[in-house]
Amino acid sequence: MFIQGNMLIGQQSVKGNGRLIHAVNPATGERLEPGYGAGDASDVDRACQLAWEAFHIYRRRPQRERAAFLRAVASEIEGLGDALIERAMQESGLPRGRLEGERGRTCGQLRLFADVVKAGEWLDVRVDPALPERTPLPRSDLRQRHIGVGPVAVFGASNFPLAFSVAGGDTASALAAGCPVVVKAHSAHPCTSELVGFAVQKAVQACGLPEGVFSLLFGSGRDLGQALVAHPRIQAVGFTGSRAGGLALMKAAQARPQPIPVYAEMSSLNPVFLLPQALADSAEALADGFVGSLTMGAGQFCTNPGLVVALAGPDLERFMAQAGKMLSGSAAQTMLTPGIHDAYQQGVQQWTSTSAREVARGEMGPESDNACQAALFATTASEFLTDESLHEEVFGSASLVVECQDEAELLDIIDHLEGQLTATLHMADSDAALAGKLMAPLELKAGRILANGWPTGVEVCHAMVHGGPFPATSDTRSTSVGSGAIHRFLRPVCYQNLADALLPDELKQDNPLGVPRLVDGKREV
Ligand code: NAP
Repeated sequence: MFIQGNMLIGQQSVKGNGRLIHAVNPATGERLEPGYGAGDASDVDRACQLAWEAFHIYRRRPQRERAAFLRAVASEIEGLGDALIERAMQESGLPRGRLEGERGRTCGQLRLFADVVKAGEWLDVRVDPALPERTPLPRSDLRQRHIGVGPVAVFGASNFPLAFSVAGGDTASALAAGCPVVVKAHSAHPCTSELVGFAVQKAVQACGLPEGVFSLLFGSGRDLGQALVAHPRIQAVGFTGSRAGGLALMKAAQARPQPIPVYAEMSSLNPVFLLPQALADSAEALADGFVGSLTMGAGQFCTNPGLVVALAGPDLERFMAQAGKMLSGSAAQTMLTPGIHDAYQQGVQQWTSTSAREVARGEMGPESDNACQAALFATTASEFLTDESLHEEVFGSASLVVECQDEAELLDIIDHLEGQLTATLHMADSDAALAGKLMAPLELKAGRILANGWPTGVEVCHAMVHGGPFPATSDTRSTSVGSGAIHRFLRPVCYQNLADALLPDELKQDNPLGVPRLVDGKREV
């Protein structure tokens, strides 16, 4: 497998003619070779036209073939061996263990979607048989299934170079839905992207699929990324990154003659509520768990606990004292990119210009320009409620404790929060009544509510929701993690009074594929 510094457009390796994109090792500042020439509008057009041609064939291939393809992608990624991990370490500064775990997650979710495709629940088949004798009006024969929306543009995420990039969750769910994918690689890890791209390209060929099922492009978001979203063949977009980036893509998608959905996962504070008895019983243990979650991976997780809310008092003081002690001894970790590090520094600096007070800072080292020094600040509920700058995500190991005077203030905080990916309750048995009062308002703010745990570590499974109201995501009805992610790239089609021969197999009268169906409102199979 040769690293070529090329885009992958269908089965072709294509050298981009634009400005060279070089990864930078964030730990050493070393510029990594090769450079990747940025693509231009003609590259976008070629990839999207191929994707459109492929869509008509790919979406109609039997589900077992689509599932086999997803499994083949997973096997090809594993076949890349240590070269992939080594390169991802250089390009992201992330440690080996984390990246090996991420590769496992990437391949695991591809295989999960293979199982989902075969099981057929996603088709959501509904059959309402004709009722010719019904009065006053007879009913036609009505049958519904879901189909893929068309080619999907996927923007690789900086903070998951494997699990949310070239063959990550967005790509896996789109391919599972029968949609070809055109990936815009994140400029921070181009070679990792190319290696994974080779794996997908190889699987496309081995499975005898049309080449346009997958393409990988390099270039800046503002040029190539915008052109990709604007391309008439693209029918949906998956994105994880900054609020500004997500908003720009939503705007571009809405400005098209045919607007399309953008599933952008952007910013979240992931508030953690420490209820009084839990805090009284275990302030120190909670602080230990909190610091572990806050500093994991330099805090570069969308579910990082960036806000802690509790009633003011000696138990909260104990929590902050222990968290401060733990944080002061926490080693700085290299952040993913100089840009992310700069944004982190600015975010923490901004807090120092507010009424919030500094509780603790982590250690400075290692000797890297991009080291994240963890930070814990505190403020009162009344200050938090009046200063909107304190509501902005600081991406990294920084968190803000909000001290409330009473339960009413605690509820007021929830009311004033923006949409969140997660909300966490730490509670003991005697906190149940207060927890009960928080549940209804929290449901309206967050995609996932968890008890007595930490929000980092997102299980890839069927029940997961990694979503939430804006700005956690651009579309509150969706999840980007777990098998439910497939629904972002599907749409329903109803067939009325069509002869069996014209119906797709999953809708035929004798259900030859054996898919689960809702027949006349009753679950069958
Ligand atoms: P980003 O700047 O939003 O970039 C993500 C992707 O979107 C890149 O491919 C980028 O292209 C593209 N892009 C950015 N702005 C665009 C625009 N106006 N039009 C079209 N495409 C655009 O995110 P990032 O580089 O990963 O990190 C920057 C900040 O994002 C972080 O400091 C953090 O605040 C936030 N972030 C949040 C999460 C989360 O999960 N909540 C995850 C990652 C990052 P280029 O190649 O040109 O950069």
